[in-house]
Amino acid sequence: SHEFHQYLADEAATVAFGNTLAKLVAGGVVIYLYGDLGAGKTTLSRGLVQGLGHKGKVKSPTYTLVEPYELPEVNIYHFDLYRLADPEELEFMGIRDYFDNSAVCILEWPSKGAGMIPRADLKITLEYNGEAREISILADTERGADIVTKLKG
Ligand code: ADP
Ligand code: MG
Repeated sequence: SHEFHQYLADEAATVAFGNTLAKLVAGGVVIYLYGDLGAGKTTLSRGLVQGLGHKGKVKSPTYTLVEPYELPEVNIYHFDLYRLADPEELEFMGIRDYFDNSAVCILEWPSKGAGMIPRADLKITLEYNGEAREISILADTERGADIVTKLKG
């Protein structure tokens, strides 16, 4: 099946996993991130964004809704839709510009953007277990399935 699971012992393991994922998504991807507050969605995003070549900090987009990273090789848009009151608000942000097929789009709390965001290639869930996390990745497109196949290899 197009599913992948891994145990992440600590924060460093989560960041390292984001770095690994970065090597497989440079051609563009849409990722939905699920998990409770504090589950590690932003931590994983940091590993992904820095793994794609961003040298600076990765801030949580909780208040800005989106943090763009327009790198020479790839455009990355990291969303946190937790505070979005209405998916229609995304229209005013010019959201369509962000969803170029070759961009890496990472969305925390995607359910808040229902109807306004593109389909996910990968649906990633993070679950707590003390300091450890269990990551589950489900592929929902051909592009997602290719990535999961490579993760397994
Ligand atoms: P979210 O974006 O899901 O709300 P964050 O990534 O902002 O979560 O926060 C995760 C918190 O949990 C951070 O304070 C981080 O240091 C801590 N943490 C502890 N263990 C882990 C782990 N294995 N993976 C990710 N974060 C961890
Ligand atoms: Mg977060």
